[in-house]
Amino acid sequence: MQTTRPRLDPSAASAGTMMDVPLTIRWIFEHNQRSHGMREVVSREDDGSLFRYTYADFGARVAQLASALVEMGIRPGDRVASFGWNTHRHLELYFAVPMIGAILHTANIRLFPEQVCWVFEHADDKAIFVDGSLVPAVARALAVRPASSRQFVVMGASQVELPGALDYEAQLAGQPSEFEWPELDERSGAILCYTSATTGDPKGVVFTHRSTLLHAFAAGMADGLGLTQRDVVMPVVPMFHVNAWGIPFLVPMVGAKLVLPGAKLDPASLIDLLERETVTVSLGVPTVWLAVRDEMERRDLRLPALKRLVIGGSAVPPSLFDDLEKRGVRTMHAWGMTEMSPIGTASQLTADLESASWDVQRAALLKQGRFTPLVAWKILDDNGEPVPHDGKTAGVLWVRGPAVTRSYYRLDEDLPVFKDGYFMTGDVCTIDRLGYLQLVDRTKDLVKSGGEWISSVDLENAIMGHPAVREAAVIGVAHPKWVERPIAVVALREGQSVDEPSLRAWIGERVVKWQIPDRIVFVDAIPRTGVGKFLKRELRERYKDLLGV
Ligand code: AMP
Repeated sequence: MQTTRPRLDPSAASAGTMMDVPLTIRWIFEHNQRSHGMREVVSREDDGSLFRYTYADFGARVAQLASALVEMGIRPGDRVASFGWNTHRHLELYFAVPMIGAILHTANIRLFPEQVCWVFEHADDKAIFVDGSLVPAVARALAVRPASSRQFVVMGASQVELPGALDYEAQLAGQPSEFEWPELDERSGAILCYTSATTGDPKGVVFTHRSTLLHAFAAGMADGLGLTQRDVVMPVVPMFHVNAWGIPFLVPMVGAKLVLPGAKLDPASLIDLLERETVTVSLGVPTVWLAVRDEMERRDLRLPALKRLVIGGSAVPPSLFDDLEKRGVRTMHAWGMTEMSPIGTASQLTADLESASWDVQRAALLKQGRFTPLVAWKILDDNGEPVPHDGKTAGVLWVRGPAVTRSYYRLDEDLPVFKDGYFMTGDVCTIDRLGYLQLVDRTKDLVKSGGEWISSVDLENAIMGHPAVREAAVIGVAHPKWVERPIAVVALREGQSVDEPSLRAWIGERVVKWQIPDRIVFVDAIPRTGVGKFLKRELRERYKDLLGV
């Protein structure tokens, strides 16, 4: 007997299935308002004082800001820039701008004036919201190239006048505390962020509503950042850098208390907030925590409320991990990229490791971690073959997923980093049998000496383990015989000293002999990118002739 399969009628595909509701940032906002209205947001003002309000107050101001934006002529699809620290006003922009259908361009405040002009022009921002304390930086950029067609809005008090600028609070005053949010396409742009550009022009990445919402769920899972309503979270990672790792969305979604440190990022001010607000989870790049560790050690301080520091952006030096551990603070290593919204991995112990020795657990926690559920990945060797999952063989990491970008904003060329539906991260990594990713280096930072690769990260970790060293950056410098050799640029801890031969001897006990840097240069501070990573491009330029080529 012939059987016929029932034919699927595409027009009936939605009948009897789930509601087709767009995945937009509004879900986060409205859930926050329905469920977490009484929880608090604390924000450091430019004058050092602390501003506090509840999420319910925040919601009313987001609605007022939305009306103000519409009155200013902002339309769906327009870009609106923010130029600000981590503050409650910046948080309001994070919601109001995308929820009216416009795109928030979170400009990096640490760029040079020429670069600031470049990103404003490239993004074609219609309005620019500037923190009062950052008006001089914007004025310097406008002196390079005026931007007459853009509307400036100043947030908070400013010592310097920006001609024609509106005042943020005056724009909100008198606006209704409710707003009729438009229904948006989940694939429309929400946030535009430029990569930190250690090479070439910055490249823009547009996060959509859908990618932002999915990223918040994936990054926030218990084995991801693991945040809950009971947490008090302080992002030190800036809101002008990849959505502060998604925190401005994740924290209001789970309803944790949010502590925003504003412009005061010195270790004493951060510790003051950590203590005073009983912060349970804080996040930032290693540099921030190196300075906080030094201050904690100087004052022999413990922070009993602080459960976890999420550290990423560059590799966590093992010495920092150990020092924090001694003070009762667990480090969670996380890895990601602007192109990935950004969280890709977080390091927590798997079931297999729960009963392992501390040495084994420590080694796993020092790796960059295991992937979040919405990242598919492959690690390919030089022949394009997948590397074995042995935690040793390194290859280049490619990623794919609904929160990974498929191209750069307004850059139409076909770039080799986008291939077969994957994005090439440029990170050289290993993966072990338990799925822990470990970064060996950035492709461009590996040092190739006489045909052998040397990991700058391994060397930096070895050097930073020395008690007198605050930080160390390793670069490859041209060499007459070996083509390239590593040199180390080192900044010492305050009041400490060590000379080059002793430091070389220390390194020699930790890496094979041929990897010991040819020279160690001592400096007061290592130059950094706008988001706190070592500016290796500048170091390479500065020391290019050091080995006498
Ligand atoms: P960005 O887009 O500015 O966030 O930079 C992304 C790059 O930072 C990555 O491709 C890595 O090279 C580096 N990075 C981020 N997190 C880590 C980490 N935990 N360890 C080492 N490198 C990292």
